[in-house]
Amino acid sequence: MCDMCSSPDKTHKIELEGSILNVCKNCASYGKVIKTYSKPVKQKKKTTTEEKAPVKETETIQRTVKNYHTLIKNAREQMGLKQEELAKKLAEKESIIHKLESKSIRPSRELARKLEKFLKIKLVEELEMKPGQFKKEKSTNKALTIGDLIKFKK
Ligand SMILES: [Zn+2]
Repeated sequence: MCDMCSSPDKTHKIELEGSILNVCKNCASYGKVIKTYSKPVKQKKKTTTEEKAPVKETETIQRTVKNYHTLIKNAREQMGLKQEELAKKLAEKESIIHKLESKSIRPSRELARKLEKFLKIKLVEELEMKPGQFKKEKSTNKALTIGDLIKFKK
């Protein structure tokens, strides 16, 4: 406490009429300042940096929908395009489109995005989860294969 006004913040050590007093900022002007106390900010800073360290990041899982092959085929047919024509529009090989529609290959993320944009369909679903949840989901949901999941950090 300040020796002069009883304010709780005691920030200055002053000399006043021969005696040493610990006073607040306001009262410091009454005497000659000998020393200025630095505020106890350092401790606070330390605790905040420690708290920041274990930040858990959320992961976004992208998963190709199970019926991607029918979605592609239906959308293509609705647009009146042949596999060959769709391939040309997307700058892909015809065999790629054929394999996609016969479910023998899965689209890469890049290709899925192209197909989604062009055919106006949804091929990739995004799941947001915390790291712990992801492990749980992976082990309990046996229907998922490694190929189903494209895991990456946001
Ligand atoms: Zn004071």
